[in-house]
Amino acid sequence: MTHPFLDLPPLTAARFAAVEDRVARLLDTRQDVVIMQGEALLPLEGAIRGTAGPGTTALNVITGPYGQTFGNWLRECGATVIDLPVPFHTAATADGIRAALAGRPEIDFVSLVHAEAATGNTNPVAEIGEVVRAHGALFYLDAVAAVGAEPVLPDAWGVDLCVIGAQKAMGGPAGVSAVSVSERAWTRMAANPHAPRRSYLSLLDWKERWIDAGRKVLPHAPAQLEMLALDACAERIESVGLDTVMARHRGAALATRAGAVALGGGLEPYVYEVADAAPVATTLRVPSGLSATELVARALADDPALPLAAGGGALAKEMIRVNHYGPDATPEAVLGCLTALGAALAERGPAVDVAGARGAAESAYRG
Ligand SMILES: *Cc1c(COP(=O)(O)O)cnc(C)c1O
Repeated sequence: MTHPFLDLPPLTAARFAAVEDRVARLLDTRQDVVIMQGEALLPLEGAIRGTAGPGTTALNVITGPYGQTFGNWLRECGATVIDLPVPFHTAATADGIRAALAGRPEIDFVSLVHAEAATGNTNPVAEIGEVVRAHGALFYLDAVAAVGAEPVLPDAWGVDLCVIGAQKAMGGPAGVSAVSVSERAWTRMAANPHAPRRSYLSLLDWKERWIDAGRKVLPHAPAQLEMLALDACAERIESVGLDTVMARHRGAALATRAGAVALGGGLEPYVYEVADAAPVATTLRVPSGLSATELVARALADDPALPLAAGGGALAKEMIRVNHYGPDATPEAVLGCLTALGAALAERGPAVDVAGARGAAESAYRG
């Protein structure tokens, strides 16, 4: 008896290369795309360890928890790290990056998260890319939470290392991920004696044993089911249209924001400006005296399928995350979250207008 997940023929090198090409089309890039056989933290860490070393001076922009992690990896590599923290209610700016780079010609690496699902902000990568390119630093970008929700264009923006994963707005698998690598980044890695080699973290292994060998023979058995799922997910985006998928996320973000404002009860968009708010997820600030963790638990008690979470770590009390991405980038999910949050707030005292919130969300959807 056949099973849908089992007894599959081996994934061929040609199929693997075709999935890479599909991802390259999605990113509109001519750079090499390497699909890494693990969750997105694998290429995120591999790209830093491959390019950074004791000679590196890095400007690390922190707009959420991932930026903190990148700074720690860079320091472990021996790099000198200049952290640039940005308050979570806003976004980085090209002027802020320009000021941080000014008079520091030794900075040869800039790390940035495009959109942060964990804090709900998004950064103007095109403008920042111009500044980084003018300075001549290598530009490393975590676009895991941006891809599928908003444009991600590594070639147009001068990104040297652009990491994506399919588990957020692409609505795909979490177990494989991809990174586009510029010629400059390969050169930096090849010259780096500390770059991982013969290692799970190694991008150079993929370059030497797969790309430079003509993508004819896979160096290892790939994560077959995850590769098939990535192919299916990228194919679905191609057939539906990337613009349509992005519009679904943008619509969900605008509707959630408008709905939360109309709901009242002291709930406010966590990110002040619409332009700084990520299309992938909307974060909300809970009125003081109430707990985001408790409100979310109450909302989920009625409907555990709603894409709601409390903020991580220190944000657990004050931040609610509406993770309206992938299959949840829908009016139903947004309206369900607003209604459930309204009920949870009302139970605790604040007056809320659930009908008004639903109306505001629906009219935001209509544009
Ligand atoms: C979701 C996400 C990742 C992937 O990490 P997980 O914790 O495994 O989901 C990486 N970077 C960013 C900015 C993300 O939002």
